[in-house]
Amino acid sequence: MGDPRRRVPRTDVVLAHPRLAAAERTLGRALVKAVVAEAQQRARAGEIEPEQVAEHAVAALPAAATSLRPVLNATGVVVHTNLGRAPLSQAALDAVVTAGRATDVEFDLATGRRARRGRGALAALARAVPAAGGVHVVNNNAAALLLAALTLAPGKEIVLSRGELVEIGDGFRIPELLAAAGSRLREVGTTNRTSLRDYAGAIGPDTGFVLKVHPSNFQVTGFTSAAGIAELAELDVPLVVDIGSGLLAPHPVLPDEPDATTALKQGADLVTASGDKLLGGPQAGLLLGEAGLVERLRRHPAARALRVDKLTLAALEATVLGPPPPVVEALSAKQADLRARAERIAAALPGAEAVDCVAAVGGGGAPGVELPSAGVRLPESYARPLREGVPPVVGRLEAGHCLLDLRMVDAADDDVLVAAVRACSS
Ligand SMILES: *Cc1c(COP(=O)(O)O)cnc(C)c1O
Repeated sequence: MGDPRRRVPRTDVVLAHPRLAAAERTLGRALVKAVVAEAQQRARAGEIEPEQVAEHAVAALPAAATSLRPVLNATGVVVHTNLGRAPLSQAALDAVVTAGRATDVEFDLATGRRARRGRGALAALARAVPAAGGVHVVNNNAAALLLAALTLAPGKEIVLSRGELVEIGDGFRIPELLAAAGSRLREVGTTNRTSLRDYAGAIGPDTGFVLKVHPSNFQVTGFTSAAGIAELAELDVPLVVDIGSGLLAPHPVLPDEPDATTALKQGADLVTASGDKLLGGPQAGLLLGEAGLVERLRRHPAARALRVDKLTLAALEATVLGPPPPVVEALSAKQADLRARAERIAAALPGAEAVDCVAAVGGGGAPGVELPSAGVRLPESYARPLREGVPPVVGRLEAGHCLLDLRMVDAADDDVLVAAVRACSS
């Protein structure tokens, strides 16, 4: 009995524990075995008793077969890039579960023949944006721009204002993306001012298209001017407009944010946008515009490499047709309602204080927009334990405090939030 290492139970014996056997069915054998091996290792190292191996393995089992942890976004940033941008609506989540099984995604049940893939999502977008003659969906907005360059400007020039040479984030720059597609950039104007004459002077036989990019994540103020979509549409070359955010129609809370309907009505031939920013759906790149152009994009060989998964198509359709997703709800939340929730939460937590604060749109969108919000203020020392709790709560540090902004927290999760904070103070 002297050497505890000899008493460490064998793997098959531990795996027979009812909780671990059940976990094998939901999490898979490899994952459960890895957890058991770790517990055995701890027993060999003398950190736990050999008799406790199964018990420790059970305690260490993850809740799901994904390493992703669902978190409460109390940052006050509506579209938080590091938290996965837009969280999906329940309708979109349900659609993803359905689409994950065998479905008629590319099959006509009436005829028994092949059908157009993603027709539901495409039809939903077409109905939502009647100004678009054609609709196509790719992996993300970067892919949409890439496909436009590959199709409309191979070896040709893309005319672009120097004020719109945008870096999206993580070091990715739209001009470099277009150059990688084999197009040449023809920069016109200056950082702060570009006129229609600048564009007109650059257009010639080598022009593939004029590109207008929404400077979504920065603002240039002061002595500035830019040619509008309506003016640029007068030029005798295709006009592609990257609106960034993915608004399909004007938004009352964000009057300065461009939208697909307005851009098309003003004369854009093609609009590109993200699906997981202000639309509030899955990661996707929307291409909306003149039917012939969109069909050319769809037929380009690279379209296959950029196509979206069935899970994305399902979530996108449910986002466009279904109830407003969390991003849309959060944009229109009233500060008074958020404040009332903050008061209730603070009253349940000693040392917490309800405060008014300012939330942001985020996701590299609407940089100047401030959304009046409310939240709960805690000592700064709460920040880390809250992040490491179950569920993790991510707040923001502000003026030496940990602030939990409620704008992007579902009211149904208020009790979860209270419990998470209490767990940190005990
Ligand atoms: C976010 C953004 C992109 C990139 O979109 P992804 O969907 O992340 O590829 C491109 N252009 C603009 C103007 C953007 O705001």
